[in-house]
Amino acid sequence: MTLKPITARPSSLQLGTCTTTGKRRYTSRRHARSSARRLHPGTPLRAYQCHACHDWHIGNLPHRVKNGDDW
Ligand SMILES: [Zn+2]
Repeated sequence: MTLKPITARPSSLQLGTCTTTGKRRYTSRRHARSSARRLHPGTPLRAYQCHACHDWHIGNLPHRVKNGDDW
């Protein structure tokens, strides 16, 4: 029998907070966007991939730091 090592990320949507930005981390843009809609309904927030932790955050960017913004 084969046992898979449990070294992957937990399956929860949230990974905690980014130490660089202090924002919540998400595993994907989809998770970030759905959470943004749920937490801030009616607010046009964008999801972007963080250059520091390489996970996804939501929020308004003060300047164009992000890459690949196409939502
Ligand atoms: Zn980050």
